[in-house]
Amino acid sequence: MVKKSSFDSSKNGRLALLAGILITLAGCAKVDRAKLAPSGSGKLQVVATTGPVGDAVRRIGGDRLEVEVMMGPGVDPHLYRAIPSDLRRLDAAKIIVHNGLHLEGRMAETFERLAGKKTVIALADGLVAAKDKRLLAPPEFEGHYDPHVWHDVAMWSECIGYLADELAKADPNGAENYRANAAAYSAELAALDSQVRAATATIPENARYLVTAHDAFAYFSQAYGLESVGLKGVSTEDEIAIGRMDEVVKLIVENKIPAVFVETAVAPRVVEALVEPCAAAGHTVRCDAKLELYADALGPIGSGADSYAGMIRANVRTIVGALGGNAEQLAAE
Ligand SMILES: [Zn+2]
Repeated sequence: MVKKSSFDSSKNGRLALLAGILITLAGCAKVDRAKLAPSGSGKLQVVATTGPVGDAVRRIGGDRLEVEVMMGPGVDPHLYRAIPSDLRRLDAAKIIVHNGLHLEGRMAETFERLAGKKTVIALADGLVAAKDKRLLAPPEFEGHYDPHVWHDVAMWSECIGYLADELAKADPNGAENYRANAAAYSAELAALDSQVRAATATIPENARYLVTAHDAFAYFSQAYGLESVGLKGVSTEDEIAIGRMDEVVKLIVENKIPAVFVETAVAPRVVEALVEPCAAAGHTVRCDAKLELYADALGPIGSGADSYAGMIRANVRTIVGALGGNAEQLAAE
């Protein structure tokens, strides 16, 4: 009796558990469909490509926009192709916001196709329209500008102003909101920019080199007085040129550069390969998992680098600390 009853209750327990799972799954499916539905919440549906772009849209959109970000932490935008669920989201959205300047190199045709049907905003287009003198056109990027503009906080602030203007055109009822949010956020970014400037100024002269897997930090380096040294070019898709490794090893050894940096979205072995030849030439260069930079994506939720400003602070702390400077000037939040 006892046995049977315990069997029954455990069987019932399993059935209850299974029912629970099914209900949960049904719930998830419902949530997903709701996300795709056009503005059931009364908010405008927006799809943003990368983490930094999504953060910008959330800050400027406030309560008026419902923002979904396509590429999560650790996703490489240069190589990313939209999957079917992305295409459904892009089709359902009222507004699409991407970085532009071919950062999302494999989605250009998708954006072109959608631009005829809805508002498609490329954040960096504002810099191009204003003929911003800080824009860089590296020779190997086939005449295009370097897309990594968000690493210069002041340039990103310009992009925020452009975003507010474009959102105001797409949704005139929210214009005042967007402009007020942009003004408040730009003031925050101006403070952040000065802190980054103060922190990077403490790096000793000889160590002002930022050696990374791909050339994502040219704007950062231009703004904050370093020299950016990427093994690959402006896109992670580029191959490392013949002779490039030897060239960089020589640079590291001659300048006794203390550290080189891995990126969250690129395999660490690309940069780790510098350590041995430097050691053979008599110089120990540091390269470990703690020296990880957010080149093209934000960090996971809770990492402290899950917002644009948090990502910039995390990168600056890592760079300044490893190159022998002092990052105390950076505010905690
Ligand atoms: Zn990149």
